[in-house]
Amino acid sequence: MSRYSGPVCRLCRREGTKLFLKGTRCLTEKCAVERRPFPPGQHGQSAGRGRKMSEYAKQLREKQKVKRMYGLTETQFRTTYSKASLLPGIKGTNLLVALETRLDNIVYRMGFAASRPAARQLVRHGHIEVNGAKVDIPSFKVAPGQEVRVAPADRQMLAVQVAQDQASRGAPVPWLSIDGERAAGRLLELPTRDGIPVNAQEQLIVELYSK
Ligand code: SF4
Repeated sequence: MSRYSGPVCRLCRREGTKLFLKGTRCLTEKCAVERRPFPPGQHGQSAGRGRKMSEYAKQLREKQKVKRMYGLTETQFRTTYSKASLLPGIKGTNLLVALETRLDNIVYRMGFAASRPAARQLVRHGHIEVNGAKVDIPSFKVAPGQEVRVAPADRQMLAVQVAQDQASRGAPVPWLSIDGERAAGRLLELPTRDGIPVNAQEQLIVELYSK
């Protein structure tokens, strides 16, 4: 299935939580989840009222939430899960680690873009380098020790500066070192579950895909 290109705030409202797909707007009172905290659509306000969700529905919603948060298609998400589930350790945690170490997510976490979709675009347009070489594949898996940076010629780009300003206000994750002046950073180690600031019940996704 192709990538969703409709209004992204609908996705947040559908999942009932902020997926942070619009950058600075997500942190303001203009956020659609705050203004209209019910599912989109004509019957959104009454949908699901008093109705108990089945186990399958819970698992499906959790998978959709995480998939949409990281901006993956169903095929990409399932492939990521399949590879992660073959690794030793807890499958759900492995899935989140695989998602967090994608290049587009690392660029977002380092604060070089205000949202994951914006980070994806930075990568796609060739503005990002890994260990000094251009990499334009958003799914590129960053390994511990590798340096990710905005290409020197692109550092003055307004979007990068705005995102860096925004990032300086939030707490960085402990598994990344960030040099804001150089618009560069390094993956220090693979994150643990505690170090991934994502509100998800990944076990539900494992249960869904294990059927
Ligand atoms: Fe989601 Fe951001 Fe839109 Fe709020 S503003 S609904 S967090 S994309």
